[in-house]
Amino acid sequence: EHLANQIAAGEVVERPASVLKELIENAVDAGASRIDVSAEEGGLALLRIADDGTGIEADDMLVAFQRHATSKIATGKDLFQIATLGFRGEALPSIAAVAKIKCVSSTDNSGLGRCVEIEGGALVANKEINAPKGTEMVVRDLFFNTPARLKYMKTIQTELGHLSDVVYRQALARPDIAFTFTHNGNLLLRTPGNGDLRQVVAAIYGTSSAKATIALQAEHPDYSLTGVTALPSETRANRGAVTVLVNGRYVRSQAVMQPLLQAYHTLLPLHRYPLAVLRLTMHPTLVDVNVHPAKLEVRFSKENELRSFVEQAVKEALGGRAH
Ligand code: ADP
Ligand code: MG
Repeated sequence: EHLANQIAAGEVVERPASVLKELIENAVDAGASRIDVSAEEGGLALLRIADDGTGIEADDMLVAFQRHATSKIATGKDLFQIATLGFRGEALPSIAAVAKIKCVSSTDNSGLGRCVEIEGGALVANKEINAPKGTEMVVRDLFFNTPARLKYMKTIQTELGHLSDVVYRQALARPDIAFTFTHNGNLLLRTPGNGDLRQVVAAIYGTSSAKATIALQAEHPDYSLTGVTALPSETRANRGAVTVLVNGRYVRSQAVMQPLLQAYHTLLPLHRYPLAVLRLTMHPTLVDVNVHPAKLEVRFSKENELRSFVEQAVKEALGGRAH
């Protein structure tokens, strides 16, 4: 079991940012309205994720750290209609196998909760503790027992860049959740959590970009699109500034990127690197998210139809500005 967890960790836990992604997704799945993230030394020394979600029942705390202990799939059919972000029940045991993790959680406002600590897969504490409603995960000394993996880590600055990407994507995906992100004591991001995507864009890319944003809004029998885009000359955006969200999930998708860039190329040929947040929703059967454990790659069952929908929608939004 321990070996299986270390092997799984190799897939799920590539670097600090992959740990952060899993833990933020769990907080989102738990219905949090506030998620506070702090990191030290690019996340290698410490990652802390605190949420005000449902919390974990004391009796379920140890179970949550066991392999394939997901509370998120009730029937086999659910595998095809996945509404939550996590669904494999691999993240917590994988992280616990290669780090020192402390989980403090409470499901109510009694002020009492449970604290579990696991180091390199070994349980070192399991006790009652004072805790507010919600969950706090603290991950220290990532890869302390897998030096080969540790060797592959880049500079603190590179790891921090990946951590920021993870926080930005989730903040853009969920403007209704208030995020903070602190690194080595410096507050790097604060979003209001009031549902306004433009304010999240402003918090991430600078306030000047928020004024220049163009709303995206389009409907199709199979798809609906909302979001914002911005003329790149009016932003600090670069090529990394396109965020694609499908049913609330961040994905990498050429099938969405290319038609966006094509629309810019046609109407604003000088702007090659637009800033954009595209939020697509579609019936879950039209998108296969189960392609890779990291869940970044997806397959669309009607890709060509989707491509023309996106291109048309962006062209219409840009139309008024393209002079
Ligand atoms: P998965 O997310 O795929 O179900 P994880 O290993 O990430 O698997 O988490 C295992 C279980 O632990 C989850 O199904 C959930 O029940 C519980 N859990 C983890 N993090 C949280 C959290 N922040 N709030 C509430 N429950 C959590
Ligand atoms: Mg999870």
